[in-house]
This record gives sequence, C-alpha cells and structure tokens, in this order.
Amino acid sequence: MVDPTISNVLVQSTLVTAASLSLTSLIVVRRVYRMLSPGLVRATWGALSLLICIQALGDLALLWINYTQGPNRHQDWLIASVCLGASLFVVLACSLAHHNAKDLSRLSRLESLACVDPVTELYNRRHIMDVLDTECIRSSSHNSPLSILLMDVDNFKKINDTYGHQAGDVVLKEMGVLITAASDSRLVGRYGGEEFLVLLPQEDAAAASVTAERIRAVIEAATVVYDGDPIISPTISIGIATAFGWKEKPEDLVGLADEALYAAKSTGRNRSCHAFESSGKRTVSKFSVVSPLNSQ
Ligand code: GH3
Ligand code: MG
Ligand code: MG
Repeated sequence: MVDPTISNVLVQSTLVTAASLSLTSLIVVRRVYRMLSPGLVRATWGALSLLICIQALGDLALLWINYTQGPNRHQDWLIASVCLGASLFVVLACSLAHHNAKDLSRLSRLESLACVDPVTELYNRRHIMDVLDTECIRSSSHNSPLSILLMDVDNFKKINDTYGHQAGDVVLKEMGVLITAASDSRLVGRYGGEEFLVLLPQEDAAAASVTAERIRAVIEAATVVYDGDPIISPTISIGIATAFGWKEKPEDLVGLADEALYAAKSTGRNRSCHAFESSGKRTVSKFSVVSPLNSQ
C-alpha cells in the first residue's frame, strides 16, 4: 500500500502537471491564432483558447479542493488521471495543428512568391496568363466582351543608358504603381522586360479605349524621381485587343494586342491603338487616343 501522504502528493503533482500542460497549449494556440487571418477559423481558435483557460482553472480548482479538504484517494486519482490525459491530448493536438499551420503558411508564401515579379511586385507573366486563360473561357461561355491592354514603355533603353539599370528598375516599379492606380486596381501584370498587361473583363472596345487613355495620360503626367533627381517623364504605348465571345487561346489575344502595340509604336509612340476580331476577321485600327504631346 502507498503511504496516503505520498499518494496525495502524487495526485497534487499530477494536477499541477495537467495545469502546466494546459497553459503550454495556450501558448501554442496563441501562435496559431496569430498566424490566421480574421474569419471563422480564427474565431474558433480564439474560443479554443478560452476553453483551455477554463480547463487549466479546473485543474487548479481541483488542486485547491484536494489541498484544503484532504485526500479522498480513489476519487482523486481518477480525477487527476482524467485531467492529465485531457491536458496531454490538448497539448499534442495543438502542437500538431501549429506544425501544420506553419507548413501551410510557408506553402502559401511560396505560392504567392511564384506569382509575383520581384522588381515591380506585380503579377508575373505566368500568373497573368493563367488568369487570362480563365477570363477567355468565361468570356466565351458567357458571350461577354473581354479586353486587354499590352503596354510598352517608350524608349526605355535610353532611360537605362542615361540613368543606369537601377534607375530603370525604379521607373519600372513606379510604372507598375501608376498603372495599377490608373486602372482602378484591375489585374495588372508584368508581361516582359518593360511590358505590362492589364486585363479588362466585361469591357468592350470603347470602355477599354477610355481606360487605356486614362493610364497613358497618368504616366505621361508623372515624373519619376531617382536618388533625389527627377528622371524625365516616361511615356507608354498601348495595344488594345478586344474579344467578344473569344474562343481561341489567350496567346492569340495577346498576339492581337501586340499587333496594335506595334501600330502605336510605328505611328509615333505615346498613344494607343486598338485591334479587334470580328467574324474571324482581324482588324487593326488606330483610333481615339492622341496625347496632348502628339497633338501639339
Ligand atoms: P521602344 O520605344 O521601341 O519600346 O524602345 P525601347 O528602348 O523601350 O525598347 P527596347 O526593346 O530597345 O529596350 C527595352 C530595354 O528594356 C532593353 C532592356 O535592357 C531593358 N530591360 C528589360 N528588362 C529590364 C529590367 O528588368 N530592368 C531594367 N532596368 N531594364 C530592363
Ligand atoms: Mg519599350
Ligand atoms: Mg519592349
């Protein structure tokens, strides 16, 4: 037979261990809670931390009862064992969940890095083309218009040659910010070196031309500052392509925009040209957009 005093000390130690484990799992729960974005799952973890607090308080209350009212061996052993088992289960489950949450957040960070261009922090070509693929399917199945703007910074090589490659990067980054702001936060991506692609789902030729002109005018009015010195205001040329119920590949739509961009470049830059496909016939038409510079 175990000495009642020793037995009671063991019961009390078990309850203290159970309470400590509960408090440890509370720390883990807090960590998971902080990793989650606001929503139902985060609220559930908040509620779980409350339950664990109650559990730890319960362990301490039992300890207090045992301490003040003296031992009641069989019952105390049973209760202490259940408390310890519950605390062990909670701490293990929370640690496992924390481990999974860390893996998931690492994975989602990698996923978002794989979609983003490091210089401009816009979507990269692969991601923007994936989205365009989806939009082409949607446009085709809903028989709704879809326009894209393919933009190219004018004489960008000259900017690089005059101010250096780093200044060129600053200009590219600034272009990304200006285009995103001027396009009302529609989907903007860096298509290539100094080329950007804006997707305009649901926009027909007329609406896309208005958006293109707005972006072009914003860029024309802006002055990029590098190392405290203002760099000459860059301009952009824009090729617009519109598809209505487009059934071909997204690359074909970009090809059409590229034809329009070529027309904008060859007719003087700092302007936009529009290309559209109707009844299988492609038309590239220069229209609407003449910048204040060009009209002088
Ligand atoms: P155009 O008006 O006909 O478009 O003339 P351009 O000088 O802009 O065109 P070109 O294709 O001759 O030059 C594009 C330049 O863009 C060449 C390349 O070195 C530069 N470039 C491409 N990617 C980057 C980049 O990430 N950073 C910087 N700084 N320059 C880049
Ligand atoms: Mg260029
Ligand atoms: Mg180019």
